[in-house]
Amino acid sequence: MVTKAYHIETYGCQMNVHDSEKIAGALHTLGYVQAKDAFSADVIVFNTCCIRDTAEKKILGNIGDLKHIKTHRPDVIIAIVGCMTQQKGIAEQLVKKFPFIDIILGTSNANEIADKVNEIVASRAQRRHRVVVIPRMEKPAINENEPVFRTSGTNAWVNIIYGCNNFCTYCIVPFVRGRERSRAPDVIIEEIKGLLGQGYKEITLLGQNVNSYGSDRTDGSNFAKLLAEIGQLPGKFRLRFMTSHPKDFTSEVIDVIAAFPNICNNIHLPVQSGSNAVLKAMNRKYTREKYLDIIRMIRLKMPDCGITSDIMVGFPGETDDDFRDTLALVKEVRFSNAFTFVYSPRKGTYAATLDQVPHEIKKERITELVSVQNEITKELSEQYVGGTFEVLAEDAPKENLLCGRTESGRLVSFNGPSEYVGQFLQIKVTKAKASALFGEIINGKQCE
Ligand code: SF4
Repeated sequence: MVTKAYHIETYGCQMNVHDSEKIAGALHTLGYVQAKDAFSADVIVFNTCCIRDTAEKKILGNIGDLKHIKTHRPDVIIAIVGCMTQQKGIAEQLVKKFPFIDIILGTSNANEIADKVNEIVASRAQRRHRVVVIPRMEKPAINENEPVFRTSGTNAWVNIIYGCNNFCTYCIVPFVRGRERSRAPDVIIEEIKGLLGQGYKEITLLGQNVNSYGSDRTDGSNFAKLLAEIGQLPGKFRLRFMTSHPKDFTSEVIDVIAAFPNICNNIHLPVQSGSNAVLKAMNRKYTREKYLDIIRMIRLKMPDCGITSDIMVGFPGETDDDFRDTLALVKEVRFSNAFTFVYSPRKGTYAATLDQVPHEIKKERITELVSVQNEITKELSEQYVGGTFEVLAEDAPKENLLCGRTESGRLVSFNGPSEYVGQFLQIKVTKAKASALFGEIINGKQCE
């Protein structure tokens, strides 16, 4: 029997990466295996992102390139799924522009991929060609017990909440991922116990806003309780989570993180702007003062906590004073690292309809912000030199070279055999370069 193979191209965030693991899991149940590349695959899946117009343009270009493969191998099945296709009217446009596409599914029904591949195979046996276009579902259900083909090494992603209720004025996510739906806590705990039993050393909880976990449930569950339950599980492992929203970040969550050694002292807390006027225009529902209070609480309970952020410049209406407020906040908080970016209008969002900040001004602001943040990151990196930290060896990119992260989330490279991947090691940091740290294993010793 000839083994069939699939290739998945994933765009966008960690949610999409994990969704692709579920799509792969579904294809494995049909007997498909991972192909070397798109050219040798029998099923090609594009798991798309629509967070920025530029991302969408790139995906459209790459879909266009698939025509070449389809012309040479008409039997190949091409599926486009995910955030981009979940937008109203996009599926119809795609079919018109790229008639060689076989399957289109959204975020709400990507789990139907195995059924649809089977349908295509059956319809071809009857010499019919069909295109499957799935309309969007308003209230998608949570699908439990989906097979997952994990590709994330020592770390396992675990969804705890789907969707978003926040409607930040620049963001398309609530329109393509639907409203918040939290998974039952006992189901999450069972999944994590199973993953730890399989030997995963790190669990990362996923959600657009993990802090509002449980608010749609009637059993009293919330994020702090969930963290505490997971933190109590036996065995040595690390627990991380993303992404947090400052408006829902409670002091209970900070207490739980500080109390349980398994929960990493590492928090990604997107601030977006340091200006109250801009935060209001973004509909972020917190102020600069509230954000700084959270930071103070974190630092009080966990002085070594690595705090990272997302920061945007050039949001419509951002004045020079607003931007100065952002810079002042960055200097005050001293993030260990930050994803800094220029606002770009996303069609379908409110902010895209507003007067835009000129490109030149955006460019000047991002240059200044990046330089300030880089300097802070460099100074904080230098403070690691000479210290010894527990690092989980996550990958072996080259022979005798390993990399992994400290509890605070800093990436460290060091020499060591690939058998150490998946082990906790004591690493002495010997050198820092910008955000990168370099070190050596202490006495070849693994941590208990
Ligand atoms: S919290 Fe705001 S930025 Fe994050 S996914 Fe929801 S709407 Fe988008």
